[in-house]
Amino acid sequence: MSIVVVGSVFFDSIETPHGKVDRALGGAATYFSVAASFFTPVKMVATVGEDFPEEERSFLQSRRIDLSGLEIQTGLTGSWSGRYHEDMNQRDTLDLQLNVFADFRPRLPSSYRDAQYVFLANIDPKLQSLVLDQLSAPGVIGCDTMNYWISNARGDLEQLLGRVGLLVINDEEARQLSGERNIVRAARKLLEMGPKRVLIKRGEYGVIQFSSDSIFAVPAFPLEEVFDPTGAGDTFAGGLMGELARSGDVSEAGLRRAIVCGSVLASFVVEDFGMRRLKKLTREEVDRRYRQFVSLTDIEAR
Ligand code: AMP
Repeated sequence: MSIVVVGSVFFDSIETPHGKVDRALGGAATYFSVAASFFTPVKMVATVGEDFPEEERSFLQSRRIDLSGLEIQTGLTGSWSGRYHEDMNQRDTLDLQLNVFADFRPRLPSSYRDAQYVFLANIDPKLQSLVLDQLSAPGVIGCDTMNYWISNARGDLEQLLGRVGLLVINDEEARQLSGERNIVRAARKLLEMGPKRVLIKRGEYGVIQFSSDSIFAVPAFPLEEVFDPTGAGDTFAGGLMGELARSGDVSEAGLRRAIVCGSVLASFVVEDFGMRRLKKLTREEVDRRYRQFVSLTDIEAR
């Protein structure tokens, strides 16, 4: 079953304690799509400028990513630049040029409208709702957001949360949105806002999923070196939603397997700058690390 994603396609300039990269392919929709495409075909909704290289289009298309919803507008593709601290859980945004993304109004091609699985990456919650309005009967709706929208568009965000099943956000956003410091209390409050499940990303500490009657936690895969955490959250969401769309299993067990798939993909993306590691990654490597992940968390040591 294919999946629709809406979000940014940007050029990223990234500096970490391990080096830097200039104007590499990035953006939330890009990381999400490439990760999800390991499991299922993806239909992307985004906008780029006329400067977007043919080479990157071909790369995305080579990964079963349908670009009929990628609008090319007069102007430049958005760009983001960030610098990570020695503690790579901390980063500063050095520059953000939205360019054509500033006027983005998602329009879904008719071939996208019967999608059952949809992920609303971090954009204006009004636009996230606009995507939902264009889908005939979406079954599984996931969404992300960020501090900017929590502070500046809370009403729109709260309306959107009444329509989504899975909220996938990081711990700081969960605290800000709920007004609770403790992550368990924060998750309880967020569940009251509408989503059936709240997945809280905690960087190198992994992910916790909350529903009204269960809690499930997985660590991040232990790595000796993290080169660049950019896009790890979107890559996690891509692995998660991609596996859900592939299996069609949205039971608690299906969700848990999908969370591990997301964690596996995220563990690869941080091993190199930008999308470099995902570009080389094979399905065999994904499957091998999934098995390692299962043994990592096997408390009965079978
Ligand atoms: P993450 O590391 O999960 O926060 O995602 C980083 C990605 O989000 C980068 O590839 C950026 O291009 C993209 N990004 C940064 N700022 C924004 C923004 N304001 N809106 C949409 N995407 C953004």
